[in-house]
Amino acid sequence: MELTFLGAAQEVTGSSYLLESDNAKLLIDFGMFQGKEEDWNYQPLDIKAKEVSALLLTHAHLDHSGRIPVLVKNGFRGPIFATPPTIELTELLWEDTVKLMKEEKERLDRKRRRQDKPPVELLFDEEDIDEASKLFVPVPWNQTETFKEFQFTFQPSGHILGASSIEVNAENVKLVFSGDLGQQDTVLEPPPYIFEDADYVVIESTYGDRQHKDVRETRAEFKNALSAAIRDQSKVLIPTFVVDRAQRIIYELYLLLTQEMPELASMPMFFDSPLGNKITAVYSSYPEYLLPHLSEFFQGMDQEKLGIQYVDTPEQSKKLNNLDFALIMAGSGMCTGGRILHHLKHGLWNPKNHLIFVGYQAAGTLGRSIVDGARNVKIIGEDIAVRAQVHTINGFSSHADAKDLLSWAKNFQPDTTFMVTHGEPQPAKSLAVSLGSLGYHSVIPARRQTVTLRPRKERIAIPPPEAYTIGQKIDNFVAKYPHKRKLVEKVLTALLESLEDSEA
Ligand SMILES: [Zn+2]
Repeated sequence: MELTFLGAAQEVTGSSYLLESDNAKLLIDFGMFQGKEEDWNYQPLDIKAKEVSALLLTHAHLDHSGRIPVLVKNGFRGPIFATPPTIELTELLWEDTVKLMKEEKERLDRKRRRQDKPPVELLFDEEDIDEASKLFVPVPWNQTETFKEFQFTFQPSGHILGASSIEVNAENVKLVFSGDLGQQDTVLEPPPYIFEDADYVVIESTYGDRQHKDVRETRAEFKNALSAAIRDQSKVLIPTFVVDRAQRIIYELYLLLTQEMPELASMPMFFDSPLGNKITAVYSSYPEYLLPHLSEFFQGMDQEKLGIQYVDTPEQSKKLNNLDFALIMAGSGMCTGGRILHHLKHGLWNPKNHLIFVGYQAAGTLGRSIVDGARNVKIIGEDIAVRAQVHTINGFSSHADAKDLLSWAKNFQPDTTFMVTHGEPQPAKSLAVSLGSLGYHSVIPARRQTVTLRPRKERIAIPPPEAYTIGQKIDNFVAKYPHKRKLVEKVLTALLESLEDSEA
């Protein structure tokens, strides 16, 4: 059996692994590349979509699910196995992606028309997501399923609603794909499932070199920021990711209101995100995928006590501009788009207001420039002064930190091999070194590297990724300049022949 790393190899996005047995090809995730690798989404696929037999989806986030409609557009028609909440969340995120891509296309096409250029092509459209949705097969946690010679079991990974690690058995080899792992002390979802036995583990390393701030400290910081806003009778703006982070913040607000800050009841609170509201509804319809004490909360009774108002139409959203004293949560989490931009435009100039960041702000985003102390920013074409009080609170992460990753990993047998993925080179290396110090063999595979899998007893060492870099460089060059393929082949063949001759 062979495993090929199609994405999330020495990078965070584009998660996808191809598992090939004698009779079938199984994909684990088929995610979008994001950030600086975004262009890769438009490159020809590394695999023949029609030859893929089935797909296992760990969770809904677009960097794991976002290119499945592209696969379908190219002819994939096999089953897509996922937990029921993952299916619902994924469909919502796909719909939203098509909507955003179409808006962007409209904007670009207007420009291109004036430049006499053809319209841009959408990565995928509604038809592709309809077709992809038909392929979903719901699989609950902790139930072993069979597809051809593969047996697989989804287990909780503690990351977002329905997110899973997956154990796959075939041809006497047992693999565990960690998926994205949550913290050990999860607040919404059950904690990551502890596996003990595997020949190989594909482990994520997003925060392989970092520790999160302690949850008590994080909560205290959040409370202080809110207290200041109540004292100032001013506006609190919270840019938030709409999957999981928003629901976590809603729950944290509830804990504060009922346990430490009854005065929070005086502040009108709004969640201004139609997509976020739909996602919260999915959370409330799957209590069995949340920690037991949360089912009542998400099913409404306690949220009602919290008095949060869910904003839907643009008109309702605009009305919030007139409020002086309110808490407003809205997407996007890094202020790269969405309704938060309008709220920032109307609130950022006022030194009484508070802006609370509750998630990671990537380099190059508006959120990051504000966190880094910009005094003026451009928002929807207008120069806005940053005078509001800015708070950065980093402990509400839905990702495991270095300590969490190791405490999950150390349950495996000492002769397990770890393949470290889904991390920038530095955190990936850091996790690999830590795994090594626990006595495990670990490698950091390169993109497009193929590894032959054997049961532990017949183990052969995996060659280091360096061995692949020459071939990979040539592949990348030819992919970029296809018209030079013949020339490259000719030159390389001649070079290798002459080197052979000189050896003889
Ligand atoms: Zn994720």
